[in-house]
Amino acid sequence: MSRRTSKFRRFLSRLFKERQIYHRSDGVVHFISMSSKTQVALAIVVGAALLWVAYASVNVVFKEQIIVAKEQDFLVMQTNLSKRLHDAQKAYDDVNWLNHTIENEFNETMDDVWARHNVLKNMVERKAAIDDSLAAQAIGLSAAGGPSGQKPTNGNRLMIDISPGEPTPRQSRQSVLRKEAAEEAARRRSQSGDDGIAEEAVEAMEKAAAQLYTEQMLLLAAVEEKANAEIEKLRGVIYSTGVSPDSLITPAKISNVALAQGGPFIDAAGVGGASEKFFRGANRAANAVDELAAIQAVISHLPLSSPLTVTRRFTSGFGIRRDPITGRHASHYGIDFAAPWASPVTATGAGVVKFAGTRTGFGRTVEIDHGNGFFTRYAHLSRISVKRGQRVNLHAKVGELGSSGRVTGPHVHYEVHYRNRPLNPRRFIEAGRYVFES
Ligand SMILES: [Zn+2]
Repeated sequence: MSRRTSKFRRFLSRLFKERQIYHRSDGVVHFISMSSKTQVALAIVVGAALLWVAYASVNVVFKEQIIVAKEQDFLVMQTNLSKRLHDAQKAYDDVNWLNHTIENEFNETMDDVWARHNVLKNMVERKAAIDDSLAAQAIGLSAAGGPSGQKPTNGNRLMIDISPGEPTPRQSRQSVLRKEAAEEAARRRSQSGDDGIAEEAVEAMEKAAAQLYTEQMLLLAAVEEKANAEIEKLRGVIYSTGVSPDSLITPAKISNVALAQGGPFIDAAGVGGASEKFFRGANRAANAVDELAAIQAVISHLPLSSPLTVTRRFTSGFGIRRDPITGRHASHYGIDFAAPWASPVTATGAGVVKFAGTRTGFGRTVEIDHGNGFFTRYAHLSRISVKRGQRVNLHAKVGELGSSGRVTGPHVHYEVHYRNRPLNPRRFIEAGRYVFES
């Protein structure tokens, strides 16, 4: 037992020392004795009662405030919750809107890209088909060689550069196109007026689309430039025959080609900005490809080869000469080639046989209509292998070399006529070499 405890006990026994309570009734004095323990117990009971009364009073007085406080707490919680719900709804709406915005933008952009891609694809395919025909004709012409059968000196190199080629427009043009694409992206961004993530996503997509647009424009420009370069070379081929290319390739012919392809196939209505610029460029490129197709169609029928593909000797030129039989000066409207008897005489270009029979002076003769006002004549044949109306390709056999008609020895007399006027066939054969030789 510690000292402190015994001290407290002494304090308690001094405070609640044993007491006697006296009271007198009817002259008799009574007393009640109260021990220290009883006093302590009483004090505890009275203290507890007082505490309960105090608590109850406080509770009654402050109950209102407590409820109000609790309600406020509840309200705050509820407000927080609805705020969170609202935030979630807003986030959901944002995502939805973002999706829609991006989806719409994406669809719009893809539609544009796809439309442009299809135009390009058609154009590139069309040009490739023209180039294939040109290459086939060049190979055919190179097989026959020059007027005396000279083979290409440059190892069969085609004068017409028909390799697919790189889209390599001038640098300045590239930077202009890139600038246009960037401006277009900015324009669309300011139109849609979106913000935040949507803008970033749309911006990234537009950047990709702008890059595609630039490449498409470059490809378009390359197709146009290449077509124009080929047009120039083919016009040169025609020009070197002595016939004006403009008399053969008329605007009417070009638009006919366009109509045959379904007319102006590009409808720029309803497309704005970059696409409109693209479709304007596409129309320009399409016109170039149309013109190239028209020239190629003319070239493919021009008599640009020699009537003999076997070894031959060029014996007589075009123009005034001494007649070998009468000895008088006379006009010679063709050129002569000598080769072994019965050598195959072949068509110098594609066409339709318009005459197959005997003509005075010419003996057995074949004439081929090449269209566009051209026809060729093959004379002094020993044998005719075609019939009138027959369609012939370049180097198709039309007969065999001979000496029918008014001749001194076996040879083939060959003429080229344009609009019923004889032209120097040698110029055509030389021009043909330009198709396959550089
Ligand atoms: Zn002759």
